[in-house]
Amino acid sequence: MNDQRTPWYLKLHWQVLIALGFGLVFGVAFPKAAEDLGFLGDLFLRLLTMIIVPLIFTSLVNGITSLGNARSVGRVGVRTVVYYMASTTGAIIVGLGLVNILHPGHGLHIGNGSLPEGLNATSQSLPVFLLHMVPDNIVSAMARGQILPVITFAILFGIFLTGLNDERGRAVQAVVDGVLDVIQRLTLAIVRLAPVGIFALLAREVARSGIDVILSLWRYFLVVGLGLVIHAMITLPLLLLLLGRRSPLKFVRAVLPALATAFSTASSSATLPLSMECAEQEAKLPRGIVSFVLPLGATVNMDGTALYEAVAALTIAQVYGVHLNLTQQLVVLLTALLASVGAAGIPMAGLVMLVVVLKAVGLPLEGISTIIAVDRVLDMMRTATNVWSDLVGAAVVARFEGSTG
Ligand code: ASP
Repeated sequence: MNDQRTPWYLKLHWQVLIALGFGLVFGVAFPKAAEDLGFLGDLFLRLLTMIIVPLIFTSLVNGITSLGNARSVGRVGVRTVVYYMASTTGAIIVGLGLVNILHPGHGLHIGNGSLPEGLNATSQSLPVFLLHMVPDNIVSAMARGQILPVITFAILFGIFLTGLNDERGRAVQAVVDGVLDVIQRLTLAIVRLAPVGIFALLAREVARSGIDVILSLWRYFLVVGLGLVIHAMITLPLLLLLLGRRSPLKFVRAVLPALATAFSTASSSATLPLSMECAEQEAKLPRGIVSFVLPLGATVNMDGTALYEAVAALTIAQVYGVHLNLTQQLVVLLTALLASVGAAGIPMAGLVMLVVVLKAVGLPLEGISTIIAVDRVLDMMRTATNVWSDLVGAAVVARFEGSTG
């Protein structure tokens, strides 16, 4: 779509940048109109959400079968998981470092804002978490959009399909491949709406969240923001350069529409169709790697969310005047890692999973009300970081599988 002869204003990354700028200005200048136009953003979001389940299923199965055999699947799987865990741990360490130096919780008061419904009910122990990764009914998991169980089923289905080495196996593969192709064509059509959708979602968000809220929590906001910036603009580009052997500037240009969509939708899952499209068509990553690494990443790899969980938990501890020693901060690190894996790729999932981290170190859940006011803006920022890390991960894994751009 973006070949050399296309004039600049028709190229998607320019359109997306313009949409971001317009959205910001429009939301401030015309809040009422921005609210009214919000449905255009919702429409874009629904179109993306509509294709997530079939996309995740077919792309994972396709990714696994195109890797050929269980051994390659295992190798790519291990590399993917190692990258995801390492980059997320790196993000948490940046967050913990900053919060210990800058003490954003000092001077904040315990908030009296209300907590989202059902927050108290969130308590996932490790066995329960693992249990829920396996669907008891795949159709109902798909119908409810529960992505982790769908991923488990898709991986198992893909692996056993690879073992079916006859014409029936190839027929099933051809069907899955065909469905994936159709979904990707559909994605291409939806992508054309991205500038409008991004504009409308951002303008409404700007109109809704006042700057005064951010000012009241500026130190906390700054620490999370700074952490995300360090991770997204220093750590991940370094990984991309050193391990992925790609120019970060060129790569970011290729995947910009996905990053802008992540920012305005605050949903990694809804961004998945665009991430895959940009990674394959613009960044020229191999299809087999993209279709395996990115659907997994959209659900389990959330660097921004993990960093945010760690900063938020320690900020709340500071608000309550509780000192967390090194061992307790290690518990925060591990639970933030787990919580980021368990968080769904939807808006506010990170806030809900914060409960797990707070419970692990015995902090009161009411502390969440102190920081909730700026959550939406931080959600947009951490989602863009999450998706950026997924894409860098795809480039790194692709390089180790023998492909450079
Ligand atoms: N909204 C984030 C995502 O979809 C998750 C979170 O709330 O941190 O990646």
